[in-house]
Amino acid sequence: MSEFVESLMNEVKAKNPSEPEFHQAVFEVAESLELVLERHPEYRSAKVLERIIEPERVMMFRVPWMDDQGDVQINRGFRIEMNSAIGPYKGGLRFHPSVNLGILKFLAFEQVFKNSLTTLPMGGGKGGSDFDPKGKSDNEVMRFCQSFMSELFRHIGPNTDVPAGDIGVGGREIGFLFGQYKRLRNEFTGVLTGKGLNWGGSLIRPEATGFGSVYFAAEMLATRNETLEGKTCLVSGSGNVAQFTTQKILELGGKVVTVSDSSGSIYDEEGIDNEKLKFIMDLKNVRRGRMKEYAEKYSGAVYTPSDPNADHNPLWDHKADAAFPSATQNEINEKDATNLLKNGVYVVSEGANMPTTIEGVNLFLDKKILYGPGKAANAGGVAVSGLEMAQNSMRYSWTREEVDNRLRIIMKEIHKTCIETSAKYGTEGNYVNGANIGGFVKVANAMLDQGIV
Ligand code: NDP
Repeated sequence: MSEFVESLMNEVKAKNPSEPEFHQAVFEVAESLELVLERHPEYRSAKVLERIIEPERVMMFRVPWMDDQGDVQINRGFRIEMNSAIGPYKGGLRFHPSVNLGILKFLAFEQVFKNSLTTLPMGGGKGGSDFDPKGKSDNEVMRFCQSFMSELFRHIGPNTDVPAGDIGVGGREIGFLFGQYKRLRNEFTGVLTGKGLNWGGSLIRPEATGFGSVYFAAEMLATRNETLEGKTCLVSGSGNVAQFTTQKILELGGKVVTVSDSSGSIYDEEGIDNEKLKFIMDLKNVRRGRMKEYAEKYSGAVYTPSDPNADHNPLWDHKADAAFPSATQNEINEKDATNLLKNGVYVVSEGANMPTTIEGVNLFLDKKILYGPGKAANAGGVAVSGLEMAQNSMRYSWTREEVDNRLRIIMKEIHKTCIETSAKYGTEGNYVNGANIGGFVKVANAMLDQGIV
């Protein structure tokens, strides 16, 4: 570690104690940016990186609501407005019991670079709550969302801050949040993305993150004149990103043999076909059940319950060509990365945010596999959110083909930026450097133009 990164990290840790995920995200970016800061002392003297690390604004608030038994429940709500140099704050809301300030700051920090990479004018933000929608009735979720928005509404707006979904926040939650915003403000605007199709949503938004991550993998493979056809793929998670990643892999001729949820994972050697995927979508989106039921329905599949004390995740220990982590942060540790490489995986496209630990990332980079970090590979979701904002501003909707085509072009552009930037800084093929530097430069230049704010 260089002197600059070491002293920066000491300061970040002292100022933001007990936020290991935030430290991890900053460290990874700082290491890549050394190359740029050496060549551009103007960024260094204006303390651009140090300013990006400090959120522009953080909101933390009480979210009281009443459950179906009439008992009062209290959760904590957050919104991190990280950086608005190139556009309104933009980033998802996560509802999960693990949510805390440090996790949301890591996500908001990553979002700044990701949004910049999309080529669209969006700043970075993130928010959420430690509320767990699992096991709650629709009415409980609605009451929670209404209470959450009763505070959040004063901080957001179509030109200020435009939240979207993330873990635990899908179409149902966005609907309840939007309804309450509209009621409080008495205006119908594109203040949230991921909306329903008949009230301002964009076609392809639900699919965008998963599709985008597969398009990114296809772009990486194309650099070796290969395609996904016939490739065996490991997918983790079974939510929004995992479902549409699976769908697109199947469309492009690949085979998906794993999926999971927080209780356990499925290995289906025969492959998950479209009919099985339909079952998963109904199980997770409608019946809100557990993946264990998949193995009960399809006898060839093996279910392994999660073991929080295990030193690795068995999902990553199968013969395969490609891996698409699509559940959560740090789900691939050093041992998992070793297992992936041992089993022949040479393409990793991250649908989830920061799913690989630093040790795992270093292994992938050392072995020079096709490794697409989340900032680049999962940017398709926020890109189509940007397209939803554009359609809302025009009060117009594009067709499915039009949005999908734009998504493909954006993923191609992001890939090109990563490749060209990594080469420009002497680390050709290193998508981590490419994404971090590519995302940083646009934001940094805007910050220089706008003065010390
Ligand atoms: P969903 O809530 O739809 O699905 C999340 C999936 O991951 C579920 O299968 C869930 O299992 C599993 N999961 C969540 N937390 C954990 C955990 N701590 N341990 C093990 N499994 C877990 O979320 P998304 O699909 O939207 O998000 C998945 C990832 O993709 C996240 O990292 C998110 O930040 C990232 N992402 C999402 C985007 C989007 O557009 N939605 C955009 C860019 C990135 P269970 O059902 O048991 O909860």
